Amino acid sequence: MNVLIVEDERSLSHEMEIYLSRQNLNCDVAFNGKSASDKIHANSYDFVLLDLGLPDMDGLDLLRESKKAGIESAFIVLTARSEVEDKITGLDLGADDYIAKPFSLAELHSRMQAILRRKHGLKSNVMSVHDFDIDIQNRTVHCKGNSINLTKKEFDLLHYLALHKNRVLTRIQLTEHIWGDVLEDDYESNYIDVHVKNLRKKLSAQSSVDWFETVRGVGYRVNA
Ligand code: CA
Repeated sequence: MNVLIVEDERSLSHEMEIYLSRQNLNCDVAFNGKSASDKIHANSYDFVLLDLGLPDMDGLDLLRESKKAGIESAFIVLTARSEVEDKITGLDLGADDYIAKPFSLAELHSRMQAILRRKHGLKSNVMSVHDFDIDIQNRTVHCKGNSINLTKKEFDLLHYLALHKNRVLTRIQLTEHIWGDVLEDDYESNYIDVHVKNLRKKLSAQSSVDWFETVRGVGYRVNA
């Protein structure tokens, strides 16, 4: 998952970046509205954490503009303003959640997970795909009671594909959301194939159900 942190208070944005990176999120940072707007339009983020009091722009305008442009990222509004009106405006504009400063980073992270569950219709932190149980919170995978040892990137790949099940994800999308890089060309993405190959080997050792599909020339799809 990748996150854009839009916050001009450097110490706070740095703290968020460190904390969320430790939670295996790829973080990008913008310190003003202009740079945030450029990044939001150029990249595709799973989350945008948006401060309202930016030096050059009201965060609510950035939110309004992004929603109008059809940006699909989940937005969480961060603000020191306690006015109920701002909160209502933010939610009316399509923010997914709202958190008042000062907030605990653990709470921010748990709200992000709640948004993910809501967005993908999950009832708990454990996703089941055929015989496999993928625990998002503890980052474990089990098949019929056996624990499967995945690397960090293998887990991220499986998690992301399972969240977007029945949809083909391109190598470019996977690179952006899992590695946080932007590829210029598809041929640069062979390393994804290597991770997928290893992941698939570990999964197929447990179960013969072939639900992890390669869509030739495009990418991958988890069929569920
Ligand atoms: Ca601010």
